[in-house]
Amino acid sequence: MTVPETLYRIPRRPWRWLPWLVLSQVLVVLAWVAWGWRCGLPLMVASHALFMVPVFLPNSRFYAPVLSRLPGQARKVWLTIDDGPSEETPAVLELLDRYEAKATFFLVGERAQARPELVQAMLARGHSLGNHSHRHPQTRFWRLGRQAIAEEIAQCQQALTAIAGTPPRWYRSVVGMTNPFVAPALKQWQLTRVGWSARGFDGVDCTPGQVVERITRDLAPGSIVLLHEGAAHGHNLAIIEAVLQAVQARGLHAGLPD
Ligand SMILES: [Zn+2]
Repeated sequence: MTVPETLYRIPRRPWRWLPWLVLSQVLVVLAWVAWGWRCGLPLMVASHALFMVPVFLPNSRFYAPVLSRLPGQARKVWLTIDDGPSEETPAVLELLDRYEAKATFFLVGERAQARPELVQAMLARGHSLGNHSHRHPQTRFWRLGRQAIAEEIAQCQQALTAIAGTPPRWYRSVVGMTNPFVAPALKQWQLTRVGWSARGFDGVDCTPGQVVERITRDLAPGSIVLLHEGAAHGHNLAIIEAVLQAVQARGLHAGLPD
């Protein structure tokens, strides 16, 4: 198998979970009828949990294929920077240049539309783009319906394509949550979902030292590193620089998967 075949994991059967959901609920009803609620109720709760939990697991393949590491043995890591473009983008680009690193920016469509010059600057310096939804509805992305998910992914794809001239091939779910309606949109736009293998939990309230320690602990050839830009806590640049230093110190190279 060649490397590109394993890299592009576009969903082929995005509704394959549906017959299993129907079957599980039929079995719950049959159990309830046959053995009463003491058996039926726990089975119903368990069956619902079975279909809910994968939504919240960023590297779960239950609803859509995902790339969570780079295949192969090369001493390369893939830096992925979410949530831009932002005020910090120019400084992030300077940092990446200084460490001779290439990264993929998972952009929010409406933020890209507001600052297309920053998107152009990413491309001009040899970085690549990914689809990270149009509006980044982080508290409710997991429960959006089919139409809303389709719009989030389509509008971001169209916005980035209009700026870049070519459509992105990568997609990352908002907060890593992938519900059953993501895969049909990925199939439509020929997108590959990207997870991660190294993250620092640099959310709302982060301590940069701890974040960098968590990321560097998981740094290895083939790692996909989750980073952010423009967060309100203001630590993203320090975290990115520390990770770039760690990558260099370990003899790894930050490059793009192609
Ligand atoms: Zn995000």
